[in-house]
Amino acid sequence: MGIALLAETVIAQIAAGEVVERPASVVKEMIENALDAGANTILVNIGSGGRALIQVSDDGSGIPSDEVEIALARHATSKLRQTDDLNRLSTLGFRGEALSSIAAVSQLTLTSRHREEQLGTQIRVDGGVITHRSEIGAPAGTVVRVENLFYNTPARLKFLKKESTEKRYITALVTRYAMAYPAVRFSLEHDGREVFRTNGTGQLADVIIKTLGLNNFRLMLEVEAHDPERENRPEVSVYGFTSSPEYHRSDRTQVTLFVNGRWVQDSSLTYAVTQAYNNLITDGRYPISVLMIRLPPHEVDVNVHPTKAEVRFRNANAVFTTVQRAVRQAVLEMVNAPAPDSGYTVRRHDAMMPNSPRSISANKWYSGANQMDLDLTLDNPEVPTTNRRRDDDEHELSHIPEGAGVPAKPRTLPVMRVVGQIGAMYIIAEGPAGMYLVDQNAAHERVIYEQMVDLVSGKGELNIVSLENFTFDGSSAVIRSIELHRDAFSEVGLQIEPFGPNTLAVREIPEILQQSDLERFCSQLIRALQEYPQMSSDEFMQKLIGLIARNTAVRSGQVLKHEQMQDIVRQLERSESPLVCPEGRPTLIHMSGDQLAREFKRRP
Ligand code: ADP
Ligand code: MG
Repeated sequence: MGIALLAETVIAQIAAGEVVERPASVVKEMIENALDAGANTILVNIGSGGRALIQVSDDGSGIPSDEVEIALARHATSKLRQTDDLNRLSTLGFRGEALSSIAAVSQLTLTSRHREEQLGTQIRVDGGVITHRSEIGAPAGTVVRVENLFYNTPARLKFLKKESTEKRYITALVTRYAMAYPAVRFSLEHDGREVFRTNGTGQLADVIIKTLGLNNFRLMLEVEAHDPERENRPEVSVYGFTSSPEYHRSDRTQVTLFVNGRWVQDSSLTYAVTQAYNNLITDGRYPISVLMIRLPPHEVDVNVHPTKAEVRFRNANAVFTTVQRAVRQAVLEMVNAPAPDSGYTVRRHDAMMPNSPRSISANKWYSGANQMDLDLTLDNPEVPTTNRRRDDDEHELSHIPEGAGVPAKPRTLPVMRVVGQIGAMYIIAEGPAGMYLVDQNAAHERVIYEQMVDLVSGKGELNIVSLENFTFDGSSAVIRSIELHRDAFSEVGLQIEPFGPNTLAVREIPEILQQSDLERFCSQLIRALQEYPQMSSDEFMQKLIGLIARNTAVRSGQVLKHEQMQDIVRQLERSESPLVCPEGRPTLIHMSGDQLAREFKRRP
């Protein structure tokens, strides 16, 4: 073959390889274009993991009709004129490569109407060649529809992963852009099914709740720092959330960093974040973080790589230290918080939450709708499932066996190793972040309470046992209240019926109450009904479950075997609110390694 210049379409196809690696890269470029166009709403529709279809619609500025062709040409951009402009770039795009590259390796239809024009334009490109153009009525904004990606580059097609994997990449990408741009409404559909949506409230916290779920969000700490400009150091600010040390993952993929609104992969900054947890997180585990880093545009070189996923800092050291210090401070503040009397991780977010999380957790049986536990991209933190042994030991603790197929709950406390028992009241345990003293009674009440709540909300089977003849006395007012709350009773497996004047008969009880003192339970129940006759059904349900927990938990003063203590601790580690019992007493006291060293006047 003699030497010849390549045809423009061939050049574009070759170049496309650098920008368009997989469907998620197409989504990324198109979301960036929509953001650059000032969109308030961005809708992403995916078919077959992006192989068949990727469509991104926005309500941004639109493209003027006489610029549509040029937008599709190589190295055509409205965002940059001179290399010098790179120093003051405020847009995500600047290379003018994405649209042309994508069009070279797919069948692309671009429909756009500029805000100030009456009619829109539709243009169709097959493998880089324009095959159709027409005027068309369309809302202001742009819709880019990419079909059959890589249809003309079979080698690329072969490199695509399973549909589910490509879907996961796309979901991870869209959720991350939603985090970085919380004021923009995002919606993602896979094969016509909505998997993610944000409301554009402008609050990062709202987006994190949608991606991690409310329960995990409660374990996130707010990070905020601003370092003003000093000699040789640029102004750097950091804002975001990072997990408290008891919430972690087995890899670093959940450390998400944005620099000036651009999602970057930067191993040195990721290291800065993970190092901030030094000594506080179990070895080989990594935090979940979402951090928005801002610094003057001329301090960052974004033109390192065609995908713009890497950046170079003029003063990398300054950025590194600001990020590390900000994260470390958030984590230390939490670890060194005073005795966890009301749940420090919870308290942190009170101000930011639509409802205070404490009131949400109190109304747990209705909170299902609040919690869109969308665990698509962010797989559950991997944790070994506990194989609970149920031996026939007479001392066996009251607890409700987990039904098959019930997924392990996310961990909310670090793994604790039971060391022993003190005064037949407290369990002493050791964890990665120091020493824990656990109130056996309070902790067990918390565990049983949450298990009952799960059962009542339909997670798992409630075992019920019948009673032969157990009656107790109650006034006619009490009998009326019990009638009134009949539904709540039956939901927890209690069947109580009138049995002659001023007498009630208990016909059925939940199995968990079998070993308890039923008389005591009934008299506490009567007292509660008398003291608070006006309880709503929610309030009553909480009371009732609280009473069951109180009457079935191990008592203070009860000598426990090692396995029994380990069992309580294991369950507490996955409790939703592990730090307080249902009545609000603390379940544990934590002393960090640093605190112990200080007490013993050791140098850290
Ligand atoms: P770049 O974003 O680097 O400029 P692209 O190839 O991604 O290059 O886009 C080329 C040009 O097409 C952009 O500069 C912009 O003017 C126009 N464009 C692309 N997508 C959109 C959109 N969604 N809304 C408005 N204009 C767009
Ligand atoms: Mg672009």
